[in-house]
Amino acid sequence: MTLSLILVGSCATLSQKEKITAIKIKIAFNDKEIVKKYASTITSEELKVHVYDLTKDEFNGRMTGTKGHNAACAFIRDYYINEKISAPPKDDDYFQEIPKSYFSKKINASQNVIAYLKGKEKPEELLVISGHSDHEGVIDGEIYYGADDNGSGTSAIMEIAQAFKMAYDDGYKPKRSIAFLHATGEEIGLYGSRYYTEHPLFPIENTVANLNIDMVGRVDNRHSKNPNYIYIIGSDRLSTELHYISEAANATFSDLELDYKYNSENDPNRYFQRSDHYNFALKGVPTIFYFNGVHEDYTKPTDTADKLNYKLLEKRTRLIFSTAWYLANSEKRVVVDKKL
Ligand SMILES: [Zn+2]
Repeated sequence: MTLSLILVGSCATLSQKEKITAIKIKIAFNDKEIVKKYASTITSEELKVHVYDLTKDEFNGRMTGTKGHNAACAFIRDYYINEKISAPPKDDDYFQEIPKSYFSKKINASQNVIAYLKGKEKPEELLVISGHSDHEGVIDGEIYYGADDNGSGTSAIMEIAQAFKMAYDDGYKPKRSIAFLHATGEEIGLYGSRYYTEHPLFPIENTVANLNIDMVGRVDNRHSKNPNYIYIIGSDRLSTELHYISEAANATFSDLELDYKYNSENDPNRYFQRSDHYNFALKGVPTIFYFNGVHEDYTKPTDTADKLNYKLLEKRTRLIFSTAWYLANSEKRVVVDKKL
């Protein structure tokens, strides 16, 4: 009895290992040089310009529903217009309007900003790259700039979109469509991403994955001695394959330390539930949350643009770009083999 149980146990373990080996073997970047070429267009200098722009005084800390946040959303929209990156077919002015009634009473109507690249072979399948555009606004007369939270992620998306557009114009159109989603209302309860997942561009089951970027420009205490890291959260919750795609992208292009500390299901911080990817995961979409952890300026007016490590932001953004490239171009869409 005991013996046979042990045997069954070890067989199960072996086959799990075999399954993972089979998944890993299939993951290959065939277009390495092309990915590198366009990843190199993502630069610390441009990221820095975007973060400074997004944290201007006139945006007043980008509180959802305020004039300042609306102006920031218009700024993001105008960036896509200038870059000639189109709006999605459904929201052709780049704004997905969210009515006041969707929010709690105190919040005005607001909008997600969405830009879009149409896939060449499977346009009905969609990769969503997201990050929230809002922050905490003005509290007691002080502007909460939110340079890391989430000027960093917003800038990363803008640069990733530009890199994909350059590739697109050179004839390297992605197989699948890509949406660049700047979600509103994250700080007050993940509203924008929830609204999006309830009103997606295409039926939500056509969304192959969501890469969500929220705070990627700073270094936390745990990594003060070796800042070459990023926390990866949720990559294996719905898809074993997604987890290994992320690792392969890093091994091939980035060589960052992928820290899984906060990926533990028992982690008391529950970060997996605390940013926009969670609404996608709830709908069965595999997600990765990219995060640098908290620091002394987190949710303080002192989260300013001068404190970001822009070289590190560049490196992390390039990792996300190469992972996105794979997900948009792989022969088969990433396999979902788990449930939350
Ligand atoms: Zn955030």
